[in-house]
Amino acid sequence: MSLFDLLFPPMCPYCGKQTDDVCETCAHCRSLTEIAPHKRRLTDKTVCYSAYEYEGVVRRAIIDYKYKNHSQYAKSFAKTYQRVIEQAHLKSEYDVYTAVPTHHHAERGRFDQMKRIVVPVARFEGVEYKQLMTPSRKTTAQHTLNREMRKENAKGLYAASEPQYIEGKRILIFDDVITTGATLMECAEVLYNAGAAKVDCITLAW
Ligand SMILES: [Zn+2]
Repeated sequence: MSLFDLLFPPMCPYCGKQTDDVCETCAHCRSLTEIAPHKRRLTDKTVCYSAYEYEGVVRRAIIDYKYKNHSQYAKSFAKTYQRVIEQAHLKSEYDVYTAVPTHHHAERGRFDQMKRIVVPVARFEGVEYKQLMTPSRKTTAQHTLNREMRKENAKGLYAASEPQYIEGKRILIFDDVITTGATLMECAEVLYNAGAAKVDCITLAW
């Protein structure tokens, strides 16, 4: 057990019981271990797989993790991504996992939060984890904008950080929630422009 786990004992994001998964002891939580991944086509070359609808206890858990530093949920969230990978038959489909980079000072902890989830998933799946994009300009936070504004705002937001590595790679981008899809589509385009062979996305909620 890591020092981090001792300081922040892993817990079920939906009821708070100590466990490194979604707990199996209450019927409601157990139902959240049965995942039928939601598949959404973003472009002709990119799809996004998601575990849950963004509502109820799932929405609350994701918000608490992001904005209230409920780091104890990381292990359980990681298991959920693993279930999506399993159920959607994504094992061996990708060479590298990456996460959407963050722009804002207020969100500076966010990237580490995502990394804390993705790294164990990568280790479990035997896939490399690598940060492949950097923020390329300052911008307005996406969640403050409407759908059309988001699309415009997302353009040119990210740059590929290691084009020579990206060339020919099959990449899975991790994010917490997909709403309009503008951010993930932009990230996928950046990676395709850098020579990626295949880019798809995975989120906890849609
Ligand atoms: Zn629970």
